[in-house]
Amino acid sequence: MRNILLVLSGPSGVGKGTIVNYLLEEDKNLVKSVSCTTRAPREGEQNGREYFFISGQEFQNRILENDFLEYDEHFGNFYGTPRSFVERQLKERSVLLEIDVVGALNAKRLMPERAVLVMVTPPSMEELEKRLSGRGSETEEERESRLRRVRYELEQAHLYDYVLVNDDSRLTKAKIQEIIRKEKEK
Ligand code: ADP
Ligand code: 5GP
Repeated sequence: MRNILLVLSGPSGVGKGTIVNYLLEEDKNLVKSVSCTTRAPREGEQNGREYFFISGQEFQNRILENDFLEYDEHFGNFYGTPRSFVERQLKERSVLLEIDVVGALNAKRLMPERAVLVMVTPPSMEELEKRLSGRGSETEEERESRLRRVRYELEQAHLYDYVLVNDDSRLTKAKIQEIIRKEKEK
């Protein structure tokens, strides 16, 4: 059995966070890599749980120190995957990254033997808009900017190993558990 790097992507609001919580609850051999970001924490987010919230200056320093496996800029903020955490954990267990399309393709390029790319898509744009506004964590302008990126992200779906429509989060979680089981045996 191999440990895999499970990379989960999909438009903002599609339900990734919800699915990831289910997966981590049920599989103690799976650990999530917590990314660093320069964006401000949302209500209820804790430093070190959803993200490590760091300043732009610290982010730049860490880029120079080669601390990120990959990083990217979204909506005016930087996001990056900590290299040492991922490399260390992969010796013991599988690692989950919840990152965007560009980051996912970089992860695949850097770790082709390990990376398994899963894209989660919404049942429809209307449903996505509903979920995003239901979450209530962004201003209307921020939501618009996230929705504008959706088409681009969905167009990259063919580059992924698996594409799942997230109707029912529990069902999507079960499908991902099956993918993990199969991929570990490869
Ligand atoms: P993401 O992490 O992809 O941005 P979230 O997990 O934060 O998305 O989900 C966005 C919103 O949609 C949340 O309010 C969440 O409760 C809701 N949600 C998540 N999954 C589903 C689903 N399968 N059906 C309906 N609503 C969902
Ligand atoms: P959010 O602000 O909604 O938490 O995340 C915005 C976007 O950044 C999402 O598409 C998310 O997947 C992406 N993201 C989060 N962490 C990382 C990371 O470490 N690297 C990359 N490339 N993207 C990330």
